[in-house]
Parts: sequence; C-alpha cells; structure tokens
Amino acid sequence: MKDQAIVGKAKPHVLILGCNFAGLTAARLIREECKDNVDITVVDRKPYLVFVPNIPLEVLSNHDPISKLHMNFYPFLVKDKSVFLQAEVKEINVDGKQVTIVPSERPGAASEKLQYDYLVIALGAKLDYEAIPGFGEYGSTVSDTYYGNKLRRYLFEGHYKGGPIAIGSCAAKIDLKGKPDWMKGMDTYCDGPPLEVSLSLSTLLSDKKWGTPKNITLFTPGEVIASDAGIPLAKEFLHMTVDGMGMGYKNNVGDVKELTKDGIVFANGDSMEAEIKIVMPNWTPHTLMKGLSICDSLGYVNTDAYMRNPDHPEILCVGDSNGLTAPKLGAFGDMQARVAAKQIAKDLGLIAAIEAIEFKPVVMCFGDAGDGKGFYIHSDLAFGGKMGIMKMGRLYYDMKLAFKEMYFMTGGRPPAWGMELSELVTDKI
Ligand SMILES: Cc1cc2nc3c(=O)[nH]c(=O)nc-3n(C[C@H](O)[C@H](O)[C@H](O)COP(=O)(O)OP(=O)(O)OC[C@H]3O[C@@H](n4cnc5c(N)ncnc54)[C@H](O)[C@@H]3O)c2cc1C
Repeated sequence: MKDQAIVGKAKPHVLILGCNFAGLTAARLIREECKDNVDITVVDRKPYLVFVPNIPLEVLSNHDPISKLHMNFYPFLVKDKSVFLQAEVKEINVDGKQVTIVPSERPGAASEKLQYDYLVIALGAKLDYEAIPGFGEYGSTVSDTYYGNKLRRYLFEGHYKGGPIAIGSCAAKIDLKGKPDWMKGMDTYCDGPPLEVSLSLSTLLSDKKWGTPKNITLFTPGEVIASDAGIPLAKEFLHMTVDGMGMGYKNNVGDVKELTKDGIVFANGDSMEAEIKIVMPNWTPHTLMKGLSICDSLGYVNTDAYMRNPDHPEILCVGDSNGLTAPKLGAFGDMQARVAAKQIAKDLGLIAAIEAIEFKPVVMCFGDAGDGKGFYIHSDLAFGGKMGIMKMGRLYYDMKLAFKEMYFMTGGRPPAWGMELSELVTDKI
C-alpha cells in the first residue's frame, strides 16, 4: 500500500537507501537528470555524511576526525526538493516493492512501510572487525572517526612506546559466481589506506623522533599489496617503501587469524610482533541483505554494468553494497551513481538510450604521503585496461584537501569524483 502521506504525488517514486557517498550522489544526480518528473525519498540512519577517505590524514595531523569530516547533507536534499527520512532500513520486500523502516533519531519508534517504483540501494557494507578475534582490545584502524580518534590519542597522548607497527588488510571474501574475470585477482577490499598510512606514519615517526620507517611492516594476504592499483604500480610502491625506506613486508600471509597484545597471528601460521596493529577488515553485506533474491550468496546485490538487477530492473545498486564494487572505493560508487541516474532518466524518456553510460572500473585516488606530500593513482590495469599513472608531490596533497572542500561545498556533486579537475591538473603535466 502506497503511503500517500510520505510519497505524495503520482510521479514515479525513487526510494534511495543510504546517503553516504553513493546514495547522496545518486540522489543529487537523479534529481539533476530527472528534474521534477520523479519524487525522491532518501533514507539513512544518520543525517550526515562521513568523509571516510580523509580520516587517516586528519588522524596523523593530530585532529579528531569527527571535527572535520561530518557533512550535513540535509540542506542539499531540501534544495533538490528530495525528502529525507532519518530511519533504519529493516527489510526489503523485492516482490512487493516495499521497504520497512524504523525512525532512528530516538529509540522506541514504530516501523513503517514505504512503497517504491525505483529502489536505489546504497547501504554500503559492514566492516567486519567483529570477525577478527582480539580486534576490540588490541586493534587499530582508520575507517571511521571513532577508531581514527582512538589511534590519534594513542599516538599523540604519549602512549606509543616506539615498538613495531603492523599495517595491512584481512582477506576479502568474494562470491565470484557470475562476476567479471578481473575480480578473481582481488585479495583485499581496501588496500589504499595501508599504503597511505604507511607513508604518512613513517614521516610522523621520523618528525617526532618516535622511530623510523623501519618500525613499520606492511602485510597482505595476497602476493602483492594493493594489486588493485595494478601490479606494476604496486611494485613501484613496494620498491619505494620496502627497498628505499626500509619498511618490512610480509606477503601471502592469508587472513588475519587473531590479534594479541603483542602482535598478529596470520592464517598461514606466520606471526609478527607489533605494538600497534592497523588493520583493514573484510567488508561483508548487512544482515538485512543476506538471502534476498537480488543478492549473491554473501548478500551483495547482483547488477549488470548499468547498475540494475537483472531480475528486478527497477532495483539499482550503487557503491559498496554492489557485488561489482571491488575494491570498495567511493570513486566506484560515484561512477555507479552517475550510471544509475541516467538509467532512470532513460526509462522516463528524458534522455536517449545512447546517452546511457556503463560502469567501467578505474581506480582513482589521492593519498597523504606525509611531509606535506601526496600521491595520486589513476589506473585500470587491474581491470584489463592499459592506464597506470602514479605520481607523488605537494600538489597531490593539496588536491586531496581541495577535493574534500569541493565535495562539502557542492554537497556531494563534485565533477566526477574530482576526475575532470585531476585530469586537467595532473595527468597532463
Ligand atoms: C580509510 C579509508 C580510506 C578510503 N579512501 C578512499 C579513497 O581515497 N578513494 C575512494 O574512492 N574510496 C576510499 N575509501 C572507500 C570509501 O570510503 C567507500 O567505498 C565509500 O564510503 C562507500 O560509499 P557507500 O555510500 O557505498 O557506502 P557507505 O559509505 O558505507 O555508506 C552507507 C550509508 O548507508 C547508511 N546505512 C547503512 N545501513 C543502513 C540501514 N540499515 N538503515 C539506514 N541507513 C543505513 C549508513 O549510515 C551510510 O550513510 C576509503 C575507505 C577507507 C576505510
């Protein structure tokens, strides 16, 4: 039953679940493409976006990341005449085209059902720290402001004793059935942050006289860390950090089996001593996604390259919830949101079929390399392409900061994840 109080007029109702990178960009671009031909409702449990990619940078600059990286998206949705509901998504009924939500500002609210014509799933995924024995007591990470600030306090409030630091990722669990060939080589879901943190932390250790790059050991479950950037670029990075700076490196360790007070135990039986263990986990789908007919065996949504589920083309999925999103990159969610917006506009006859675009994965990121420098990677080598660009310099650090400012200023609608700007300023010099 359509809830007229919420859904209102007889326009197609686009319901967007999740409003971080993928959901916010989808909401804004669907409005841009479809103008006032659709009603848009956006549901998220919180009314702000967390700008995750800059957490490491803020932590290692001794800023509590919460003070810089929460963006209130509400004014942008209001400006777009989209409705925001602060609520927890509880259930998706794909056959009934209905979603159950519970308002989430205060505990005790009653559930409600929302009907949709188009559903855009942008709920991200769960970062599975729970699955790492010992993480709560002994683990560190930079994937949210809570953990980021915990690490910041350890480093800057006099707790660090100058011991070894391990940085790496857990093994990614991926259901390869029906997925593109390039996914077969994905060992981890997010190896950019270990690269970034190893570089910027080594500068911090030297600056503060807490240690040297030799305190740091990188580890990876696979053959080469950050192979999703393309093996030649990943090897270039290893040459710089391990051969050049003297960091340690352990590969083929398999999954992280356990964290202890004194170190890490790996699935291959190897172990290492570490005072600080900075670990990126496995990404796993939310419980509510598991078992849905639109999902793979893990709970990631199956879509084609137009972000549409083959059995339910009225359901689109963008960002980390999508089974095609590996590695888990906000830049992928951004591209997918652009694809999804064009699909809905095409269905409504607002653009020609020829204007529809497909999702083609390309890694695009800026990282903090410490000492006021940054790195820039733009590569499709891991996806069968031929482009592999890695650059280092002050300009890229400035661009990382500028991109966040641009993102906050435009309310999640920068020019294609900074792509055009970066092409202009970086690839061509
Ligand atoms: C340290 C770090 C650095 C990174 N750096 C980069 C980078 O440089 N470049 C890059 O491209 N990517 C980077 N990433 C990856 C990027 O952060 C993610 O890919 C991106 O956040 C995924 O966006 P998303 O919108 O799909 O999901 P999420 O960001 O996970 O957002 C999901 C949204 O859904 C909401 N939600 C979830 N479940 C429910 C529910 N049941 N009910 C209501 N709301 C719900 C959440 O509140 C959230 O707002 C980095 C990741 C990490 C951890």
